[in-house]
Amino acid sequence: MNKIIIIGAGITGLTSAYFLKKPYEVLESKQYAGGLCASYYKDGFTFDCSGHFIHINDEKIKKFVNRIAGGVFEVKRNACIYIDKTFVPYPFQANLSYLSDKIKKDCLDGIIKRKSVDIHKDMSFLNWSKSMFGDGITKYFMEPYNKKLWSYNLNKLNATWVGQFVPKPDAEDIIRSASVKNKKKYGYNSVFYYPKQNGCGALIDGLLKKVKVNFNSKTTKIDIKNKVVYCKNGKCYKYNKIISTQPLLELLKQIKSVPKSVKITSEKLLYSSVRCINIGVKSTKGVPEILKGKHWIYVPESKFSFYRIGIYSNVNPKSAPKHCYNFYVEYSSFSNIEYNKNTENIIKDLKKISFIRDDDKIIAHSTVDIPYAYVVFDKNKEKSLKEINDFLIKNNIFSIGRYGAWEYSFIEKNISDAKNLVEKLNYL
Ligand SMILES: Cc1cc2nc3c(=O)[nH]c(=O)nc-3n(C[C@H](O)[C@H](O)[C@H](O)COP(=O)(O)OP(=O)(O)OC[C@H]3O[C@@H](n4cnc5c(N)ncnc54)[C@H](O)[C@@H]3O)c2cc1C
Repeated sequence: MNKIIIIGAGITGLTSAYFLKKPYEVLESKQYAGGLCASYYKDGFTFDCSGHFIHINDEKIKKFVNRIAGGVFEVKRNACIYIDKTFVPYPFQANLSYLSDKIKKDCLDGIIKRKSVDIHKDMSFLNWSKSMFGDGITKYFMEPYNKKLWSYNLNKLNATWVGQFVPKPDAEDIIRSASVKNKKKYGYNSVFYYPKQNGCGALIDGLLKKVKVNFNSKTTKIDIKNKVVYCKNGKCYKYNKIISTQPLLELLKQIKSVPKSVKITSEKLLYSSVRCINIGVKSTKGVPEILKGKHWIYVPESKFSFYRIGIYSNVNPKSAPKHCYNFYVEYSSFSNIEYNKNTENIIKDLKKISFIRDDDKIIAHSTVDIPYAYVVFDKNKEKSLKEINDFLIKNNIFSIGRYGAWEYSFIEKNISDAKNLVEKLNYL
């Protein structure tokens, strides 16, 4: 029987299957489900594939997530920036009073002397930031942080992604924040949710109660003429439609007879990769005083190779055994080319800045590589995506999810996009 084939059992693929009212098969390359939303257990700790905190605005999705994950709790974000040996509350640009006099003056001068230019999203990220926040805020935070996060030339990266991800307080608020502590909450994630048990993976466990997955079923070839998907394990499936959540570039490589122009276009799609190091620490003193209560910390300075750390056990104490704490450290590279920094150097740096005390004992650590982590927003992206999707949709292939749609998305959007697509397919 012809079915809808869903490639990938991450949050997008599983949600699609969950709401689909037609016969389907979910094909997952790994032996476990969840993709980046999977959690795993090591030496008594619960780790995500880098912190996966659930930001939700839509009430219906909140209810869905709460039900599926077996209960989530609400957390008021406590995020900050570590710079110049100081912690500045997030967002940097709305909390200048925490900075040294020199940095504060540079940031204030920058915002006051901003050139009045027509701010638009197609400008380079660097010019966008200078026009929006001035030279000082760009120099101390926006430029060094984003250079580390994207591992890509900020003159070529545009600003079409900033939307909800970069809070934009107005100039008056920024200037006031240099003398008065700012009480306003900024950004889409000032409140977030996290499962009561089992990390972000609780969401996946819940979906698996209803959705059946074919594990170890990596798709390798798609014959769009005869409508057959082939897997590495030797099995093949006839289909009438495909919902693919694997990275778009990988999907295109598997399709026989992709037009040359689409192939050339796809070569213009760029991405950066992330390595996440998960660390579990034992100490009778618990988490170091300077990290107490903090959920995640942005680290813009170039002397540190990592751009962000997050403390799971500050979000949910159940993530770590008694007298222990656990966190993640993230650093990036361009297109998987090099993950040159090793765990030992990172641990040395973390000790240097007292995020781990000298007498604390690291009792668990492991590495999660995320080859496709952030898709690059440059002048080619939008046009390329249109051409690729026109070709795919014409062939009954719907490429969705963070890497399928080739976007900067998150769990809430993945759930909503999967549900919306499937609701349409249910009636076709
Ligand atoms: C560092 C980092 C931190 C993040 N933090 C957050 C956060 O705090 N909150 C939040 O909401 N979002 C966060 N996100 C985003 C979130 O991870 C994604 O939006 C979400 O996981 C995307 O799910 P997906 O199902 O679309 O893709 P994936 O999770 O990538 O799932 C795709 C699935 O397809 C499978 N697959 C791939 N190729 C094949 C093949 N050929 N055949 C069969 N199966 C295949 C994979 O094994 C995988 O299971 C973060 C992302 C990153 C990179």
